[in-house]
Amino acid sequence: MLNSLRSIVQEVNAARDMKTALAIIVTRVKQAMGTQVCSVYLGNPKGDYVLMATDGLNADAVGKVRLRPGEGLVGRVVMREEPVNLEHAETHPSYQYFPETGEERFASFLGVPIIHHRKVLGVLVVQQVEQRRFDEGDEAFLVTMSAQLAGVIAHAEATGAMDIMGDKATQAKFIGVSGAPGIAIGEAVVITPPADLRSVPYKACTDVDAELAFFQQCLMAVREDIKSLGEQLRSRINREEQALFDAYLAMLDDASLGSEVSERIRRGTNASYAWSEVILEHENTFNSMNDPYLRERATDLRDLGRRVLAYLQESNQKCRVYPDKTILIGEELTASMLGEIPKEKLAGLVSVLGSSNSHVAILARAMDIPTVMGAVDLPYTQMDQRSVIVDGYKGTVYSDPGPQLRKHYKAIFLEEQELVKGLEALKDLPCETLDHYRLPLWVNTGLMTDVVRSLERGAEGVGLYRTEVPFLLRDRFPSEEEQRAIYREQLEAFAPHTVTMRTLDIGGDKALPYFPIEEDNPFLGWRGIRVTLDHPEIFLAQLRAMIKASEGLDNLRILLPMITSVAELESSKLLIHRVFNELLEEGFKVKMPHIGVMIEVPAAVYQVRELSTRVDFLSVGSNDLTQYLLAVDRNNARVADLYQAFHPAVLRALQHIVTEGHAERVSVGICGELAGDPGAAILLMAMGYDVLSMNATNLPKVKSVIRSITLKQAKALLAEVMTMVNAEQIRQRLDQALKEAGVTRLIRPAAQD
Ligand code: PEP
Ligand code: MG
Repeated sequence: MLNSLRSIVQEVNAARDMKTALAIIVTRVKQAMGTQVCSVYLGNPKGDYVLMATDGLNADAVGKVRLRPGEGLVGRVVMREEPVNLEHAETHPSYQYFPETGEERFASFLGVPIIHHRKVLGVLVVQQVEQRRFDEGDEAFLVTMSAQLAGVIAHAEATGAMDIMGDKATQAKFIGVSGAPGIAIGEAVVITPPADLRSVPYKACTDVDAELAFFQQCLMAVREDIKSLGEQLRSRINREEQALFDAYLAMLDDASLGSEVSERIRRGTNASYAWSEVILEHENTFNSMNDPYLRERATDLRDLGRRVLAYLQESNQKCRVYPDKTILIGEELTASMLGEIPKEKLAGLVSVLGSSNSHVAILARAMDIPTVMGAVDLPYTQMDQRSVIVDGYKGTVYSDPGPQLRKHYKAIFLEEQELVKGLEALKDLPCETLDHYRLPLWVNTGLMTDVVRSLERGAEGVGLYRTEVPFLLRDRFPSEEEQRAIYREQLEAFAPHTVTMRTLDIGGDKALPYFPIEEDNPFLGWRGIRVTLDHPEIFLAQLRAMIKASEGLDNLRILLPMITSVAELESSKLLIHRVFNELLEEGFKVKMPHIGVMIEVPAAVYQVRELSTRVDFLSVGSNDLTQYLLAVDRNNARVADLYQAFHPAVLRALQHIVTEGHAERVSVGICGELAGDPGAAILLMAMGYDVLSMNATNLPKVKSVIRSITLKQAKALLAEVMTMVNAEQIRQRLDQALKEAGVTRLIRPAAQD
């Protein structure tokens, strides 16, 4: 059973479109369960459940039989959201007979719901002529099957909604996480790693003859390569291994592979896509065979597939013209891919994998490019040349947006531009409430580009310099001297303002390519200070570089990430003092920097007093604190709606930290994303935070809101929201407060659905 389950899911997964996926499901499930019928009903936008595929009922009924929830047995499965298992289906009060299906012959019925993200997508049904009580095992098998297929169907549905051939494209929405704020409206350009069969973007072919000739030319080139490879290795490999090359050539010569591809090209698909489709289909067939020898052939086929694809793609790549508003989409965008597109043409980014902490997201924020990360359900290979909207605030992507949605986002886009222009005037004005309370606004940095933008926007200091960024951009640890030079640049650019440098915060999802950390649960694993305390040689070099860089400027503060215990703080301080004393002995004229800890782990929240007596300042990392308090992975799109920055528990923790920290007379700041949210900034100021540190993009917005209210109003608002019990209610109250303060334009743009 397990084997057939796996292989069915695998096959369905590999299907390129919904129709094929459904056909595989009904045939293979029927086979595996030894029934006479298997059918799939799927919900349509009107709320009907339509027979979409069947093996056993009359094929003509497909698309015609429709049921409302509650109607018939299928409707009953939908309504109850649980299996219906009947030996005598026709005697059940809900039974409804559809003559076109020919189902009157089938006595027994087992239907299970296909549920994805709490929504009933459809129903999977098996039926049998003879009376058969499907046993517990059958039911469990079908439920397991359906649970596994739900994600695949949801994905295929989204792809189907987009309509691959492009002439009836309808709007589809995909959820990810925000990578960089902002709205981008443009045309998709899919970028893929070369010769990856699974990520070839669909493209139509306009000149069939030219495409066919091109395909033959590429096949020929690979034939030559393989022949010469075989020649080169002839003296070094045995006869059996040599046979592999002959087998390769035979596959290429095999009229069927080539002719299948040519056939698809003639139907209007370009050669790369047609080739990858054919290879993947054959690979699947080999994979599903029980004979290990034949399964092994799948590997050869894949290798061959990649070789030909490399040729097919090479020539295509050269003549790429980027549209003016390019939305770059890829399975895993990397920083180097950004370099391929002229800067003025790059409007937005979407990465299927990755998180807000990925390299590319950090760069995107620095470059002000609206970005969505982790859009895991996006059928990115089908996106090329489609019209796309990127909502970098909410982390959503729309393909083929309809006129209404387009208008909605266009308005937000224009408003944003107006807003930015309007806010530029605030640069030299103080961040001060109407009743003259001063609140310093600092910035988070990582790259030199951040520094320039920050200074342009009137930042008064750096609350978080993420030192891992320069580490991420290299192919080895930067040397002490290299680090000193980089840190010096940051310190000099902001002098005499303070620059808070966080010691290396790697681990979690921030892996250095040259220092991989493989863990099942990386966010609860070897992260931040845990890594650097275990590697004093890395930590000491960084501390030396930082303190040396501050010589003569004396504007450095050192911040320790992921502190979970007083012991970790004590050990870190010991090393900082050691470095400082050694530098003095070496003759450097340096001053002891202030030391602070990040409060980003619940354990630290409950030890704020103990930590405060041992440091000069605290800085709250609300990004991690929220994920650890709510047990929600900050980068997982599936639970993105549970990552609630305004959860009452988070707000209480934030209030507790600042109150306790102040009781020990240390300065308390916050450097998580929350600080850059205009509504949140009001609350944080009212809680007593001494400094808010944020992305340079958000700084003028926060300044604008602070300048529009009084501290008294902010405190009253805080008192009010602290009595509320859910995050959404709090969010709405804050939006209302922004309206009352006359800064409606700062409310985060809401997406339409
Ligand atoms: C945080 O966790 O809030 C924080 C500022 O650090 P990072 O986002 O780099 O983990
Ligand atoms: Mg953090």
